Amino acid sequence: MTNNLDLSEEKNWLSLKKDLKNSVGDSAYNNWLKHLSFISFENTTLSFSLPTKFLRDWIVNNYSDKIKSDSKKYINNIEVIKFVVKPHGGRIVPGTTRTIKSTDNQWKSTLDIRSNQQSSYPNEFGAPLDPRFTFENFVVGKPNELAFAASQRIAEADNVSFNPLFLYGGVGLGKTHLMHAIGWKLKELKPERKVIYLSAEKFMYQFVRALRYKDTSAFKEQFRSIDVLMIDDVQFISGKDNTQEEFFHTFNALIEQNKQIVISADKSPSDLDGVQERLKSRLGCGLVADIHPTTYELRLGILIEKAQKRGVEIPAKVLEFLSHRIISNVREMEGALNRLVAHATLVGTSITVETAQVVLQDLLKSSNKRITIEEIQKKVAEHYNIRITDMHSPRRSRSVARPRQIAMYLAKSITSRSLPEIGRKFGGRDHTTVMHAVKKIEELKLQDVNFNEDIELLKRLIDS
Ligand code: ADP
Ligand code: MG
Repeated sequence: MTNNLDLSEEKNWLSLKKDLKNSVGDSAYNNWLKHLSFISFENTTLSFSLPTKFLRDWIVNNYSDKIKSDSKKYINNIEVIKFVVKPHGGRIVPGTTRTIKSTDNQWKSTLDIRSNQQSSYPNEFGAPLDPRFTFENFVVGKPNELAFAASQRIAEADNVSFNPLFLYGGVGLGKTHLMHAIGWKLKELKPERKVIYLSAEKFMYQFVRALRYKDTSAFKEQFRSIDVLMIDDVQFISGKDNTQEEFFHTFNALIEQNKQIVISADKSPSDLDGVQERLKSRLGCGLVADIHPTTYELRLGILIEKAQKRGVEIPAKVLEFLSHRIISNVREMEGALNRLVAHATLVGTSITVETAQVVLQDLLKSSNKRITIEEIQKKVAEHYNIRITDMHSPRRSRSVARPRQIAMYLAKSITSRSLPEIGRKFGGRDHTTVMHAVKKIEELKLQDVNFNEDIELLKRLIDS
């Protein structure tokens, strides 16, 4: 056709690249489309090359629509677009051509023509809810009360009060549990509402898949009828520029339509690494509720509840022991309880602190590392009958200075804290003071058998 422009002419090619940059944005352009080179336009087939297979696949999956529409402004009778792998300056890698065909205005990626027979976008979206994760089964304590109340509000309120709800906290502290609980409650109270729960990874997967089979509009279509969207573990979305972009747009569109969004992550929005600033601020613009690490009381409460649910009698002493010793997260604690119950059932013994110690040896060992300096200070102060404040005080009399040195020594040998960190916890002392204390105690242990035994006893006390 006469009005086609020749892309092998530098100025036309540059102009098309500029259009692409405008349509995908600077960062996506620099990451991906910058690497695109024009090869030829012959018999309605437009060919481009990319230097690596990875880039080629990514571009075919994510940008073929944009490339198509922008190229059409230059060449109006394109029927096929080919993407070939051609290392810089090298020749085309055989067998790596991927073709995008245009038929009736509908562009279909024929990424892998043999295996890709089904071109329909799969309908299943979202993930099922775990029946155990309900509000009724959730034990509330100080560390999670805000997150719990906010989640309940979302499930029970008639209109959107804060959007999005952003739940964050460490592993195994109940984020997923709360999201499922919102889902269950909504099903019960407002069954007509369409609620979708999915992991950020699944979101990305669905997105890339949508691109491959049709285009992004199919993906967006999925959201149209949704009333509540919950996306779990968004920290996994970080770094993937193109998906972030899509996430951002989907997110904005839903918020504008007054749809409720619930997000979880292991960090606060502002601390998410590799996430664009504008997305961070968007994520943090509703209610941000953090779930703090569990306290002893909450752990005990959860254990009592879980033991009851399982209908097993577990002595209070054992539950107390577990709540003291397994402090990292609730999932681990539940695992410990399960193991203990299984062991008792199989072996036919009763559950005692002693059996717990044996059966859970590995778990207990790994949680030793989590003993805090404060706990050590407390135990040592109790043992030597001094005040805990003496651990921080400048007093130098032997009666308090020695126990303080012992506590420093134990902090160094039991925890993974550095000398300066330990010094800080002892009234802002210098790291050389801590080093000196450690040396001193080591010497004394070698010189004095009784002293050595005393320290070993203390260590065991702190460990158990
Ligand atoms: P996260 O998603 O924050 O990593 P989960 O929601 O998967 O953590 O929780 C891990 C496990 O601990 C689940 O089995 C969950 O039921 C349980 N759990 C966490 N917090 C609580 C709680 N407050 N009450 C009852 N169970 C809890
Ligand atoms: Mg989770």
